[in-house]
Amino acid sequence: MGNREIFDQVSDMEKQIGELYEQLGDLKGRLSDLLEENHRLAVENHNLRNHLDHTEAVKDNTAKKGSKKGSHPGEGYDNLARLYEEGFHICNLEFGSPRRNEDCIFCLDFFDKTK
Ligand SMILES: [Zn+2]
Repeated sequence: MGNREIFDQVSDMEKQIGELYEQLGDLKGRLSDLLEENHRLAVENHNLRNHLDHTEAVKDNTAKKGSKKGSHPGEGYDNLARLYEEGFHICNLEFGSPRRNEDCIFCLDFFDKTK
């Protein structure tokens, strides 16, 4: 193989690597969009569940007075707790972004409120 061919092959590879790198960046962007969307939906789901629980609690109380609902925060809470454990913010400030292994007082504040 002559020098010219080697040079052409290297150029081709360089081009392919460049294209792959672009595709990788594109996929990374889409992945982070999906993660954000996923977290946004989880929080929205949590809020809706809370609202539903509240509405049902009010209904229960008016139907049979005195009977109190259990204080377990429910599935939405579990999901958010898991997301937090997985290393993402669930607070309003940084919501959905990675925590980089640091505890966030705003996220922890959310747990306190829910407990
Ligand atoms: Zn946070």
